[in-house]
Amino acid sequence: MLADNIFLKVLDKTIPAKVAYEDERCLAFHDIRPQAPAHVLVIPRKEIRTLDDATDADEALLGHLVLVAVKVAKQLGLSKGYRLVVNCNEDGGQTVPHIHVHLLGGRELGWPPG
Ligand code: AMP
Repeated sequence: MLADNIFLKVLDKTIPAKVAYEDERCLAFHDIRPQAPAHVLVIPRKEIRTLDDATDADEALLGHLVLVAVKVAKQLGLSKGYRLVVNCNEDGGQTVPHIHVHLLGGRELGWPPG
């Protein structure tokens, strides 16, 4: 079971977040439990629970999330590389039911992921 959508509270600023970037379509903020020296989440303002719930109408928005993650990676100076991850549903490790792109970097990341 996915937990409540806590990111709605981050979006409406009821819950504080360390914001890295924001615009009219998305918000990027530092993960509260970082898995790497740099760990930022990029989320759409539009409520979409999982990748499975995205439609063709979301194509530009999903591309925007990726390009914003790249912009933040550059802002953070991750010139040696980084990884973008989108977990989907239980087996994918998704815990918050609101699409988010993880930006991870600042150390060498192992592969395959666990
Ligand atoms: P996922 O497991 O892919 O759904 O990722 C959810 C991520 O949200 C986890 O890495 C959590 O550490 C992170 N997270 C949960 N609540 C907050 C919060 N209030 N502020 C920042 N990150 C959060």
